[in-house]
Amino acid sequence: MRYLPPKMSQDTKPIRVGGVEIGGSAFVVMAGPCSVESLPQFAQTADVVKKAGAVILRGGMFKLRTNPDSFQGMGQDAFSIVREVKARTGLQFVSEITDPRQVSDFTGLVDMFQVGSRNMHNYALLKELGQVQTPVLLKRGFSGLISEWLQSAEYIIKYGNPNVVLCERGIRTFETATRNTFDLNAIAYVKEHTSFPVIADPSHATGAASLVTPMALAAAAAGADGIIVEVHPDPTIALSDGFQALTPDMFRNLMARLERVLAALDRGLAKVNS
Ligand code: PEP
Ligand code: MN
Repeated sequence: MRYLPPKMSQDTKPIRVGGVEIGGSAFVVMAGPCSVESLPQFAQTADVVKKAGAVILRGGMFKLRTNPDSFQGMGQDAFSIVREVKARTGLQFVSEITDPRQVSDFTGLVDMFQVGSRNMHNYALLKELGQVQTPVLLKRGFSGLISEWLQSAEYIIKYGNPNVVLCERGIRTFETATRNTFDLNAIAYVKEHTSFPVIADPSHATGAASLVTPMALAAAAAGADGIIVEVHPDPTIALSDGFQALTPDMFRNLMARLERVLAALDRGLAKVNS
């Protein structure tokens, strides 16, 4: 059955992650490395992104990699690093949960659960995330229809958690020049047809550091409520997704250009409100 959203032109219902509002008039920047790799790497990245204006820190602890020989994330060894960096910076933290059994381990550590592209259809995980009130960043499956993505969001809500934010991270098409095809249509579509805030992920959508800034700006112009971007102090030695990670200089440049695009749209960057 084709799923049609119930109503046209809904107002976005903002979701709060600590003192950060997602889906209000201000634009939210989430940034950090693909993976937490060490205390110096994570702390340095956090300092850079905070200073440049990011309000939510990202960093994978458990990684779902296509190749079983690729780095799988630090796992539980990342917990103490994350605690220390959060305490030092005061930033909110979003990280991918890969298994429903991790919910209790993540509680108190993450301020927002990320459901990765590979798990958009993991209904056991979605039901489990319905049992908590912590916000969920629900990435679109790389072969997921918009209608399937919205129904995955409805799973989380139906099981009790209304705090869902969507994330467009690119889809698989016939095009191979870029890692994925960034579906800007999807951003405008969900803004028009649903009340979910939507975040763009130009890092995974393009798979190329040089394309991240133009697509971040395009996402802002298309009406996204924010972006999530991968940043690494030295992308050449990153343990995952180095090819799409911005250097600190590239990230600062993105933020400067983003502020100009947002100003043209009568918007600004989201700040932390206590
Ligand atoms: C990630 O955010 O590092 C990630 C693995 O993303 P996705 O699930 O979109 O591939
Ligand atoms: Mn990544």
